[in-house]
Amino acid sequence: MRVGLKPKEVTALLRERGFKVTPQRLAVYNVLAHTTEHPSAEVLHKELLTYYPTMSLATVYKSLKIFCSVGLVQELNVGEDSFRYDANVAAHPHIRCMHCGRVDDVKTLPTEVFSRQVMEETGYQLTGQQYYFYGLCPTCQQAMLAQEA
Ligand SMILES: [Zn+2]
Ligand SMILES: [Zn+2]
Repeated sequence: MRVGLKPKEVTALLRERGFKVTPQRLAVYNVLAHTTEHPSAEVLHKELLTYYPTMSLATVYKSLKIFCSVGLVQELNVGEDSFRYDANVAAHPHIRCMHCGRVDDVKTLPTEVFSRQVMEETGYQLTGQQYYFYGLCPTCQQAMLAQEA
């Protein structure tokens, strides 16, 4: 698992692939590697503005694109207009709250079993997969119960 590569390792990997390394670029990865919240580019940008008040959203997008292309970050489509980003690049299922938009990892599904079954059934050679579920998160369920009371 590649979550939490050190800045030195990220720098080396970017250089090796011919990308420029800037403090802002490293910060994008760093924030992403330290969250399990699967932020969108916009949410990441807001957080990064605390450290880099002049950082543009375009810089965040461009950095994310580079990190995706070198395999340090994965782009997730969880059924929204904008993508979410995850520094955990292993294939793993996600669940999204339809009410607050929170996205969590689902850790215990036997996705290797699913993949094998899909290949057996369809004869496809799998190159990737995404699973996502949706529902109401525990916090939102609580809030709704409280409202009803
Ligand atoms: Zn929720
Ligand atoms: Zn995830």
